[in-house]
Amino acid sequence: MKFDFLSESDQAYFIHKASTLVEALPFIREHSGDTIVIKYGGHAMGDPKLAKSFARDIGLMKEVGIYPIVVHGGGPQIAEKLKNKNITSKFIEGLRVTDIDTVRVVEDVLANDINTEIVKSIGDSGGKAIGLSGNKNNLLSATKLKIEKKESDSNIEKLIDIGFVGQPTKVNISLIKEHINKGKIPVIAPLGVDADSNSYNINADTAAGFIAGELKASKLLLLTDVAGILDKEKKLISSLTMDDASKLINEDFVVGGMKPKILTCIEAMKKGVKKTTILDGRIPHSVVLELFTEHGIGTQIYS
Ligand code: ADP
Ligand code: MG
Repeated sequence: MKFDFLSESDQAYFIHKASTLVEALPFIREHSGDTIVIKYGGHAMGDPKLAKSFARDIGLMKEVGIYPIVVHGGGPQIAEKLKNKNITSKFIEGLRVTDIDTVRVVEDVLANDINTEIVKSIGDSGGKAIGLSGNKNNLLSATKLKIEKKESDSNIEKLIDIGFVGQPTKVNISLIKEHINKGKIPVIAPLGVDADSNSYNINADTAAGFIAGELKASKLLLLTDVAGILDKEKKLISSLTMDDASKLINEDFVVGGMKPKILTCIEAMKKGVKKTTILDGRIPHSVVLELFTEHGIGTQIYS
């Protein structure tokens, strides 16, 4: 071979690397110019190595002409800070009852700690990110989320107030576009604000899906701590239609945090998002694998 100064295994390694790059070209062409919303959370966010690989993926997306928008969660970090402050929470239907002291901690962790860390991490890998908090500059308007719960021994649904947990109602699209036009990658903390300036905690999947829908993003990627949607036998469902996804919600093997994820995907697609993917954020470079390789990973939901 021409480059016989390299060992045979090194040659094979670099040839493989080069062909991977070339194979990515059609995918880069396909996605260039697209707006893609990525929900980042769970395990992937707690691990420094994975956080770095995520930041590099986001930077790469931007470099090849994609407009990424990151919406992050923060469940474990919020739980930890509440514990340190001796604030205990009650959970109803899997959602944290959020009083005023709790929402202040949530705001601090999301808008200050985590948001700053992600912006820095993208910056360290060469990208230009801008940290935004949903409750500032009317970025995400919200109303109080009222949840319906059946009384234990009757069929009557009761509306329950769980405090400062919000449901998004409006996105300040021009603010997001303004930053994008300046070449920035928006990194958004999932908080909302109502007409009386109350701040609300919003489920990060819900916030990401709402933003993707309102922006008519091409794609919504939800990074999580499982391979994707698992079926009855715990096998990965690699792709399904929107109609099949809506049938899945009532299956008893779809529980907990997976339900709002699937609902979020469906809602976003009804508003015009073409494809949504629930993927494993524990895999390094999961975003690049999903977007720029032939096979993709996780569960794809398409219309
Ligand atoms: P995230 O921080 O990514 O939002 P969640 O805990 O809210 O994570 O949601 C992901 C979790 O949903 C998984 O860890 C898993 O325990 C749970 N889950 C419930 N049903 C399913 C299913 N059918 N397939 C995959 N995960 C499921
Ligand atoms: Mg969740």
